Amino acid sequence: MMFSQLTDSLESTLKNLRGQGTLTEENVADSLREVRRAFLEADVSFNVTRDFVKAVKEKAMGKEVLTSVTPGQQIVKIIHDELVQVMGGETKELALAGKPPVGIMMVGLQGSGKTTFAAKISLYLRSKRKKKPLLVAADVYRPAAIKQLQVLGKSIGIPVYDEGEGNPVEIIQHGYEYAEKNGFDVVIYDTAGRLQIDEKLMQELEKARDAVHPEEILFVADAMIGQEAVNVAQTFFERLNFTGVCLSKMDGDARGGAALSIKKITGVPICFIGVGEKPNEIDLFHPDRMASRILGMGDVVSLVEKAQSVIDERDAKDLKKKILNNTFDLDDFLRQLRTIKKLGRLKDILGLIPGLNKLPLDKINEKEMVYVEAVLSSMTPKERKHPNLINGSRKARIAKGSGTDAARVNQVLRQFEEMKEMFKKIGSIAKKQNGGNPVG
Ligand code: GDP
Repeated sequence: MMFSQLTDSLESTLKNLRGQGTLTEENVADSLREVRRAFLEADVSFNVTRDFVKAVKEKAMGKEVLTSVTPGQQIVKIIHDELVQVMGGETKELALAGKPPVGIMMVGLQGSGKTTFAAKISLYLRSKRKKKPLLVAADVYRPAAIKQLQVLGKSIGIPVYDEGEGNPVEIIQHGYEYAEKNGFDVVIYDTAGRLQIDEKLMQELEKARDAVHPEEILFVADAMIGQEAVNVAQTFFERLNFTGVCLSKMDGDARGGAALSIKKITGVPICFIGVGEKPNEIDLFHPDRMASRILGMGDVVSLVEKAQSVIDERDAKDLKKKILNNTFDLDDFLRQLRTIKKLGRLKDILGLIPGLNKLPLDKINEKEMVYVEAVLSSMTPKERKHPNLINGSRKARIAKGSGTDAARVNQVLRQFEEMKEMFKKIGSIAKKQNGGNPVG
């Protein structure tokens, strides 16, 4: 999994920060040293890492720690926001507003994933943006590239214009004219790459660009090649002024540093990532989601966001204590159900506890809650404190009162038992991490 090294090292650094009350120069510096190491290990470029650490430090220092979160959590949030920033902030959508046919030119080294991305983007534009795209096969140097594009195009039902192994600049020019004549509103040019940067290739790409003036020039980089991708990106940018970046092979075990560096160094946003070889294995790049994924701590980030907008902190602390000490009862269950729709509280609280992003939290089905709430409300307070009192005749009464049936009541009780079982596990994990002491 990409970035897993970075996620792991940040996780263990932040563990050390738990239980400390304030953001001091010392604990911030400690965690930043780890962030720095993790970034360099993940192949983020040296300069980007240096600037990143500096920015986080400036933002963290002198920050008051919110009472409902730990300093570690607060640093995660600051790091997260900075990551979002470094990766471009907003999601970039392709500019398609120009006079049709709008041109999109794919550029990059051989093997970077251009041909695959050309097909992926055509499919994406047809299904998500309701466009009618034409693919143009102008990679005349790599043996089989034209055939590959034809096969891909055929598999997704998107026409491919080709002239065999002709002059690439002319093919691009003719492809444009063909699209214009035949009512295509987007034309995607798959161009030739080389194994390394090469002056002749650059000149040819410049000529092709000047022949058709594409609205977008997308630089394709292989996420697996790390730092080197950054150097290549820089050269392509100087020559072609590309307008967007596509990162392929993000499904592999790329360390992922390129994603962080390229935007920062070229100033050009990443717009798509490739997550497999098939034409539909493409995702829009969302800097905020990527940052959460890198940190593996999305819950902590949204928790801090919520704490910043202040909700009942005492209630949250109380609940966390009950979960961790396994004294959570049906009354708490009912109370949580009533706030969960508004606040998503239970998930947040669970997200406070390290390692929990691995638990199947989605088991908590929100649609079911209506029934669950009806059943719980029909119990007496005593029954909610001591669920083992609930025998057959009580069940019948509860079913009647809630307008459900005995099976539903049994189901709710079973769900509660499962939940308690899960909390028990969580509690013991957390206690272990807390040196065996009760948590609270
Ligand atoms: P080009 O020379 O730049 O046109 O590169 P290709 O599009 O032919 O891609 C090179 C190889 O990488 C091919 O075997 C593709 O199937 C594979 N590939 C491209 N994108 C991805 C991706 O996102 N994930 C994976 N796993 N493989 C990819």
